[in-house]
Amino acid sequence: MDKRTTPTADRPADVEVPAWLTGPCPAWCSALHSASDHPDDRHHDGVSAAVELTTMDFINYGAPTRPNYRPQVALIDLIQGYREAEPRVCVVEGSDRFLFYLSLAEAEEFAGHLLQLVATARGESDPS
Ligand SMILES: [Zn+2]
Repeated sequence: MDKRTTPTADRPADVEVPAWLTGPCPAWCSALHSASDHPDDRHHDGVSAAVELTTMDFINYGAPTRPNYRPQVALIDLIQGYREAEPRVCVVEGSDRFLFYLSLAEAEEFAGHLLQLVATARGESDPS
């Protein structure tokens, strides 16, 4: 579906399509693009998934005299430059510290290794 021309709840029909946006948004894009977007921000962006990292040191979001410790958060998201061929998986530490990008193939391989590690740790994998 072409979000540039199709009105949605987030995008009324009279919203001007940015000139830099040369094609429709992918189905997973939740960004509201604007003609004034900085060139570094001209990308499609999905909805982030977050995982609290409870074995990491918690971060104090409060004052030193009134601490408010909360777990760090790992965020993953799809991102695709408007001229790139396919999206990448972006991994960010919760305080907006970029960690790394994965191609779709790399993300699939990485996810498979993670699932195998969890199965091994839980004694669910084939020992052979
Ligand atoms: Zn988009």
